[in-house]
Amino acid sequence: MSTVHVIGAGISGLACATRAAISGVDVALYEAAGQAGGRARSFHDESLGCMIDNGNHLLLGANESTRAYLADIDAGEMIREIAPAAFPFMDLSSGERWRVRPGGGLLPTWIFSKDRRIPGTTTGEYLRQAYRLKRAGKTDTVLGAVGNDSVLYETLWQPLCRAALNTDASEASAKLMWIVLRETFMKGEEACRPWFFHKGLSAALVNPAIRFLKENNAEVRFQARLRGLRWTDHKITSLYFPEGMLRIEPDDAVILAVPPDICNDIWPAAKAPTDSRTIVNAHYRMDKPVSLPWDAPFVGLVGSETHWIFARDNIVSLTISAGDALAEKPNWEIANLLWSEVAQVIGSSAGRMPAWRVIKERRATFAQTPAQVNSRASTDTSIKNLFLAGDWTDTGLPATIEGSVRSGFKAASQALESIRNARADAKE
Ligand SMILES: Cc1cc2nc3c(=O)[nH]c(=O)nc-3n(C[C@H](O)[C@H](O)[C@H](O)COP(=O)(O)OP(=O)(O)OC[C@H]3O[C@@H](n4cnc5c(N)ncnc54)[C@H](O)[C@@H]3O)c2cc1C
Repeated sequence: MSTVHVIGAGISGLACATRAAISGVDVALYEAAGQAGGRARSFHDESLGCMIDNGNHLLLGANESTRAYLADIDAGEMIREIAPAAFPFMDLSSGERWRVRPGGGLLPTWIFSKDRRIPGTTTGEYLRQAYRLKRAGKTDTVLGAVGNDSVLYETLWQPLCRAALNTDASEASAKLMWIVLRETFMKGEEACRPWFFHKGLSAALVNPAIRFLKENNAEVRFQARLRGLRWTDHKITSLYFPEGMLRIEPDDAVILAVPPDICNDIWPAAKAPTDSRTIVNAHYRMDKPVSLPWDAPFVGLVGSETHWIFARDNIVSLTISAGDALAEKPNWEIANLLWSEVAQVIGSSAGRMPAWRVIKERRATFAQTPAQVNSRASTDTSIKNLFLAGDWTDTGLPATIEGSVRSGFKAASQALESIRNARADAKE
């Protein structure tokens, strides 16, 4: 039987491996680390004495491939939806609070309602700026397209660029931001509903997938770091691991689902994006569960260092995207600085700074600037049985879980097709 060999057990590799297993071929998954999940994982943190996620993650209602993946691995119950869609915000410099509440229906009619849009903005501004984004070219940044002379720059475009593209609006790709708008706000309220991981990332995205693969007789190998590939006649013939060489049969397929820098080492022809941006997360373990304004599981912040604050059980977690400058500071300084912002949000219940943990994900995503977005690689390669997956490949979406899952599904489908072609060639 043919085997699909998947290198990397991040979300793209897991989505690819599970789809291939469903189709009935043999699957082997190789992961360099001791656990799966890559950039979206949970772990037991010694200083907090509990499980935490490496960083807060949100999905949106529009993320259909991710929900299909969760259904595949029987983990649909592990995400929770906020309906109707609402994004609560606080401005820590002015104390102002508001909620962006996309309304029902396909047209974004909510921008006509003062109660649903951002305070101090007019309907005309949304229409004009969305139109400018739609018309933006491949080399335009969000700042270049919309300008920064409206309140919307700091209260809408910056939070959206940082959250969806992990890139400051001054350098983020306008074309990619238009896609985000088109797939969410322009598709109605349901597409904008936030979905969050109420039991953590691994409980939803990772553990059920590993269980599913094992139940389907897939081989899952941890601490298996691919060092290189060999090919002849446009076919991969062997994989090199520190322990030795693995022979690849002519009707097997190989998928590289590794981060872009690793892909450039193993398969330089991919010319994957080389520039990345950091996400900083700070976690605090409180004595008891705390509630955020509107009793929401998360609140967006402006006029502050923190971009998002999440509360789950008695853990309060803060996210700062495109956080390369902040990440230069020592962890204790970041923990102190951000704790003063937590205290502003939750008020007197904050008390003294509790046990904390700061996590700097230096290569959280590739930098979603026009130049880097234009250098994303496609799924297929010049080698007939070699395919690429990952949030950085040319999914047409930002580097997100949804992009990763879509890239994994696409790679699985192309790998299966290459196997069918190889078998047909062998019969001739
Ligand atoms: C802090 C943070 C917050 C985020 N927030 C969100 C969010 O709110 N919403 C959202 O949708 N997305 C978010 N993202 C992005 C999302 O996590 C990523 O897009 C996604 O996890 C990438 O998955 P991947 O499989 O493409 O890559 P990776 O997760 O990088 O997986 C690649 C895997 O390959 C393995 N590997 C590397 N080299 C080798 C080798 N030589 N051999 C074998 N294995 C190898 C790695 O160990 C890793 O497990 C966030 C990311 C971070 C870091």
